[in-house]
Amino acid sequence: MSGAALARAQHQPSVPGCAEAPVLRERGQREVFCGLTGIIWLHRKIQDAFFLIIGSRTCAHLMQSAAGVMIFAEPRFATAIIEERDLAGMADANEELDRVVGQLLARRPEIRLLFLVGSCPSEVIKLDLSRAAARLNTQHSPGVRVLNYSGSGIETTFTQGEDACLAALVPEMRADPAPGLLVVGALAEVVEDQMRRHFDALGIGPVTFLPPRRAADLPGIGPGTRFLLAQPFLAETARLLESRGARRLAAPFPLGAEGTTAWLRAAADAWGIPASRFREVTAVGEQRARTAIARHREQLAGRSIFFFPDSQLEVPLARFLSRELDMQPVEIGTPYLHRQHLAEELALLPTDAALSEGGDVDRQLDRCRAARPDLVVCGLGLANPLEAEGFTTKWSIELVFTPIQGYDQAGDLAELFSRPLHRRTRLKV
Ligand code: SF4
Repeated sequence: MSGAALARAQHQPSVPGCAEAPVLRERGQREVFCGLTGIIWLHRKIQDAFFLIIGSRTCAHLMQSAAGVMIFAEPRFATAIIEERDLAGMADANEELDRVVGQLLARRPEIRLLFLVGSCPSEVIKLDLSRAAARLNTQHSPGVRVLNYSGSGIETTFTQGEDACLAALVPEMRADPAPGLLVVGALAEVVEDQMRRHFDALGIGPVTFLPPRRAADLPGIGPGTRFLLAQPFLAETARLLESRGARRLAAPFPLGAEGTTAWLRAAADAWGIPASRFREVTAVGEQRARTAIARHREQLAGRSIFFFPDSQLEVPLARFLSRELDMQPVEIGTPYLHRQHLAEELALLPTDAALSEGGDVDRQLDRCRAARPDLVVCGLGLANPLEAEGFTTKWSIELVFTPIQGYDQAGDLAELFSRPLHRRTRLKV
């Protein structure tokens, strides 16, 4: 979220219930990945897109190790490395970029959408990637569309990479005044297909998804569009969609049986679907989800959990774990608290859970050590040191890579939290 968006989020009108609970705001050292990380799931999602990072060897190493890409694989992303002579202003970075893009598109003719992704180094040398994208568009259109966004790690967290990418797509969406439902946020294909089946059964449609699986399927948008956020970290994308006339359907996020039902109901209400029909369509899926979740309750009920701020999924996860598995959130830390998008979630949180926004890792570590939670959800950088201190941890980034939304994934989502506790019990035996 940009600074402006953050300021907006902090000035949202308050809503009743837990949403009024005080929030501890901190600004200090943080331990998070940068927005480049989003490419790891986005490049799998948009199948004819390519992500060209304009960055340094550090950026290339991050992508290589985070994605686990083998050297002979043909992934749909790469890093154009800015060398020292570029940084010193001795070479024309724009000429280099045009050459690299020309080579790439000649070698990979299947590419239809090319993202130039900015990084800390490209921002340091003030390489104007929006101008570069406009220039490259004139060279390579109509076969390839070239867009740009920033994945820089300066004042961002890793899920903001997806927000920036989707925000870059919004101006490309054609105007379409017809009514329709737009689901916003990258979902695994299996989840997307399940959601589509539910909407079809309810008679809601046409339904489109952002991002689309192929560049040519970018949906239209206009005053008839109602959209549901599938992810809680899309503040800028939502703002741009609203500026095109679309209206957000307020709902909790589709995590767990309860969250999925409430999310689907928001669309059903907007389409005027009778409550009896809604129950008919959702009852079996919801019951299946509750049964799958129940298998993990014995392991998780009564256990305390501490969230370090990382993925921005922390609030919906804490709601799911407290309400459907009887876990006790001690502290729910999140990088940014978007009060409007999270209003329905905040109202469902237990009143005694402490909320914190931003980050000051040393203070958070002190609070975590004092609370001695049964489970800690945190970034990769904190997990190993905390495990060495005897804490049981869960990597928050796994929750972004794994299909966790919807009824059929609710059991898997619960298992992501019960498994580390189960593993530690086994280690103790
Ligand atoms: S964009 Fe910045 S934070 Fe991210 S890997 Fe590159 S240098 Fe590091």
